[in-house]
Amino acid sequence: MGKIKLTAAVIACRFTRWVLRVIGKGGTSLPGEVAARLYPNVLADLAKDVNTIVVTGTNGKTTSSRMIEQTLIESGRTYFCNKSGANMLGGIAAEFCQNSTITGKKKYDWALIECDEAAFKTVSKYLNAKCVLVTNVFRDQLDRYGEVTHTLSSIISGIKNSKNAVVCLNADCSLTVSIADEIHNRIIYYGVDKPIYERTVEEISDAPYCIKCKSQYVYSYRTFGHLGGFKCMGCGYQRPVPQVSVSDIFETSESCSVVSLKIGEAQYKVKINLPGGYNIYNAAATACVGYALGFDAETDVKALETFECGFGRMEMLPINNARLRMILVKNPAGCNQVLNFLCNNKERSLFIVALNDNYADGTDVSWIWDVDFEKLLTVDDKLSEIWVTGIRADEMAMRFKYAGIRTDKIKVKKDYSALIDDIADYDGAVYMMPTYTAMLAIRKRIADRFGFKEFWK
Ligand SMILES: [Zn+2]
Repeated sequence: MGKIKLTAAVIACRFTRWVLRVIGKGGTSLPGEVAARLYPNVLADLAKDVNTIVVTGTNGKTTSSRMIEQTLIESGRTYFCNKSGANMLGGIAAEFCQNSTITGKKKYDWALIECDEAAFKTVSKYLNAKCVLVTNVFRDQLDRYGEVTHTLSSIISGIKNSKNAVVCLNADCSLTVSIADEIHNRIIYYGVDKPIYERTVEEISDAPYCIKCKSQYVYSYRTFGHLGGFKCMGCGYQRPVPQVSVSDIFETSESCSVVSLKIGEAQYKVKINLPGGYNIYNAAATACVGYALGFDAETDVKALETFECGFGRMEMLPINNARLRMILVKNPAGCNQVLNFLCNNKERSLFIVALNDNYADGTDVSWIWDVDFEKLLTVDDKLSEIWVTGIRADEMAMRFKYAGIRTDKIKVKKDYSALIDDIADYDGAVYMMPTYTAMLAIRKRIADRFGFKEFWK
């Protein structure tokens, strides 16, 4: 009986998806919801024999997932993943329906699932994950998820539902490490052993006080945000020694980082083919997942070197003489990381912020006041101009004015077509920091005009 219901659910899911495609309404969670309505156990049955890797945490989920995907490709493993940002229960169920046979047998050995922290709690009941990666925990979109402790408890519940999973945790994040006390899984830690940049943006820490005893942490070094070598003098809670770590950083440039990566007992010099300190973390996380799953470390290192950046992750879009890179942001921590990158960038560049306040961006944009834009004054000579666009361009311009940026340097350009014209006339490096819906809109216009591939194709 279960088999028939499973087949019916898979067919219904695919049919619904097909119909939605035909009428031009792809990308919803409806197909998965239809399947689950017909047969509530559909996801559990389909996921049963698939080796599932779950990637969760506040920042870096997408890039880490794409890097892990590259390790699966390099090692010749068969896999599927939830690429198009469908990371709630319905979307994930639909991916499994799409990537199994009609009778619910697996077509691929591995599933790589990027999962919203809040959804992980529920999704994990069905997945029997083999590996769970928690990238970090930062304050994110307060209007949607509430406090960080709420995020943490969601992740802990998710891992508790994943009894067979090996868990990869960011050793430098005091919030993430605290998960270890609540779970019984095998844990592998990863981290960065020293500061990434010479100059760092001073940030409001999301976690200044010990999560266990409320004493203030002392740090032997910081990488960014509250990440680094934390220790509580009150109760002794401290950064664990990671099994996978970046032990040295030789070079951070506009296009890549060269680091020394320790994986277990072995040491590798790795060129991470993506710039930015946060991508050093994503690379370490990827190596950690490979180590936890017993993958060949040399293959994983090769994957990091061949990895190509894409949509919203320092993706390079050359427009005439402008070398435009887009860096998606959604919270103060992510934003400060971009500023760190800019403050250490040796080349003169144009900086653009595209701020929207649609639901997918987070409707409350007050977080821009928590970001240390004042730091840009230290590299004033390196920034030709600062342009602002998006629905909340005026507020963004105001933020830059308060930061002390010269007003003649700040340009409000609300019209996307005119904005793109002006970028096309620019000669040199352009860094655009858009929120999610601003990125979709601007990228689509650029794609239409200059013929870049849309990311979902
Ligand atoms: Zn303490």
